Amino acid sequence: MPHLADQLASVRAAIADAAARAGRAPEEVRLVAVSKTQPPEAVQEVLDAGQTVFGESRVQEARAKIPILPSRARWHFIGHLQKNKIRQALALGFELFHGVDSLDLAKDIERIAGEFDAQPRILLEVNVAGESTKFGFSPAKLRTEMEELLGLGCLQIEGLMAMAPFAEEAESSRPYFAALRKLRDGLQEEFRVPLPELSMGMSGDYPVAIEEGATWVRVGGALFGNRGSKGWRPEENSATLE
Ligand SMILES: *Cc1c(COP(=O)(O)O)cnc(C)c1O
Repeated sequence: MPHLADQLASVRAAIADAAARAGRAPEEVRLVAVSKTQPPEAVQEVLDAGQTVFGESRVQEARAKIPILPSRARWHFIGHLQKNKIRQALALGFELFHGVDSLDLAKDIERIAGEFDAQPRILLEVNVAGESTKFGFSPAKLRTEMEELLGLGCLQIEGLMAMAPFAEEAESSRPYFAALRKLRDGLQEEFRVPLPELSMGMSGDYPVAIEEGATWVRVGGALFGNRGSKGWRPEENSATLE
């Protein structure tokens, strides 16, 4: 099994290559190491290799993992946040919420953040391909609801996030990434707000996403590999946590 440090180095090299192809500085593109289903030991190994930002998609799993890892690890929430988990998620100190996918959810985060006196940083998730299986604003809905979203004073809206439809070929994702960037450009112009961040690109297509303007790429499998088909489950590891 290759060392995680080597895999991290090759993902970082691929990020730098893609940035160079697009004439962008490599530091404009930041990596979220998607650690969902990975055991804490694997996260520790990647942290020791110099990666600090990790992404989790389930609050329950994050609650089990975050407290047992060193505090220099920083955490992003990348999944669909259920309303009844907002309080826990804010308490865990996630630095960026990538998947804020409806006005209702944004309003609920706003209300609870108000109680915490928190100003969560968020990205608005767009369902770029109109897939019924995916969460997210349709582009049209986002344009109509943007004014109201911007009025939610606790939320720091930093940009947009999307997932391209599953495909074998990375190139298939390109039009969706380009569409997300154009939507962002249009919103910036129409609403006169900076939306600098574009979270797009996963293991199968992150170089293409970088060529199309990604500032955050969310990479799991290409970094951690497929370590055990079942994945790490907090409910089976609670003994190590108490
Ligand atoms: C799991 C996940 C990823 C990482 O996917 P890989 O294909 O393993 O790189 C990225 N973004 C989100 C929202 C995810 O749920």
